[in-house]
Amino acid sequence: MKKIGLIGGMSWESSLVYYQIINEKIRKTLGGFHSSKCIMESVDFAEIEKLQHKNKWDELNNKMVESALNLENAKAELVILCTNTMHLCSDAIKENIKIPFLHIAEATGYKIKKSAIQKVLLLGTKFTMEKDFFKEILLQKFDIEVIVPNQDEREIIHQIIYDELVHGEIKTTSKEKYKTIIDTYANQGAQGVILGCTEIPLLIKSTDVSIPIFDTTRIHAEAAVELALS
Ligand code: GLU
Repeated sequence: MKKIGLIGGMSWESSLVYYQIINEKIRKTLGGFHSSKCIMESVDFAEIEKLQHKNKWDELNNKMVESALNLENAKAELVILCTNTMHLCSDAIKENIKIPFLHIAEATGYKIKKSAIQKVLLLGTKFTMEKDFFKEILLQKFDIEVIVPNQDEREIIHQIIYDELVHGEIKTTSKEKYKTIIDTYANQGAQGVILGCTEIPLLIKSTDVSIPIFDTTRIHAEAAVELALS
C-alpha cells in the first residue's frame, strides 16, 4: 500500500470526509484491520480564502507547492489536493514534485465516462465554474460537455459555499436553492450534475435530485485508494 499525501483544510469540513472515505474503501477492499497509510498537510483556510478573493494565484501556487513538497519530504508516494478550486494550482504542483499527483477533474472525468452521460452541469465555486481548468479537462480529455449555471445562480452557489458550507452550516433553504438550480438544468438537458466543490456533498445527496450526481469528494478519495493499492 502506498502512502497517500493529502493537502487539506480547504475546508477541513471536507478533508474530514476524505479521511473517512479513504479508510472505508481500504477496509472494504483489504478487510480485517487494514487502514490507510496517509499523511495530511492541513492549511489555514483563512489565509487561502483571502488570497483567492484577491486573485493572488502566484502566492497560492507557492503555498500549494510548499504543502506538496512537505508531503513528498514526509515520504508520501502520491499527492491529492482536497479541493476543486485549488486545482488552479495543479500545474505548479506537478512541476515541482516527483511523486504522482491525482487531479480531481481527471478522476471525475473517468467516472463520468464510465456512464453513458455526455452533458453535465458543473456546480462549484465561481473560480471552478467560470475558469477553464476543470471544464477543459472534461472536454479535451473525455469529450464531455459541461454547462454552468447563469451568473445570478453562480453567485448564489458561491455564496452558500463560502458563507455556510465551509463553516459546517447545512441549511434547508440553501438545499432548496441548489435543488431548484439543478432541476432547471436537468429540464434543459443536463444528464448529470458534478458536485464540483468538496463541501457540496454535505448539502446535496443523490436522493435530492432527479439526475445522477458526481460527488467529486468521493470520486477523488476513492481514486486515490485505487492508486495507492495499484
Ligand atoms: N472545497 C471547495 C472546492 O472544492 C471550496 C473551498 C476552496 O476554495 O478550496 O472548491
